[in-house]
Amino acid sequence: MSLVVLTKEQFYEQGEKLFGKNRRDWVFCCEWCKFEQSFNSIKKQLNEKGFIKSMRYGIITEKNLDELQPKPDQECLSENCNYVSYGLIGSGLEVDDNRYLMLKGMTKLNKCDAS
Ligand SMILES: [Zn+2]
Repeated sequence: MSLVVLTKEQFYEQGEKLFGKNRRDWVFCCEWCKFEQSFNSIKKQLNEKGFIKSMRYGIITEKNLDELQPKPDQECLSENCNYVSYGLIGSGLEVDDNRYLMLKGMTKLNKCDAS
């Protein structure tokens, strides 16, 4: 298994290049189930449907959003998947090929090329 390491700065640089400066717009993709999510996509679903279903939290409503504080950068909020990647943005980013939430559009190749 090859290990790919990005510094936090490299990760932020990639994120801004892909989605702009507002981190709430950054779309993360779960490597396990391919679910795509951002903070704003969660808010949008809540506005449209009134709730989202998450394996991790069950039903999330606007009301308990603050209390739950789901972290789209660290945990998969899919209905069918419970994957967690603690501290992805909070710490220096160290990932292996198979187990992390990554930014949509961020490929292994550009991870390897990031320097
Ligand atoms: Zn997932």
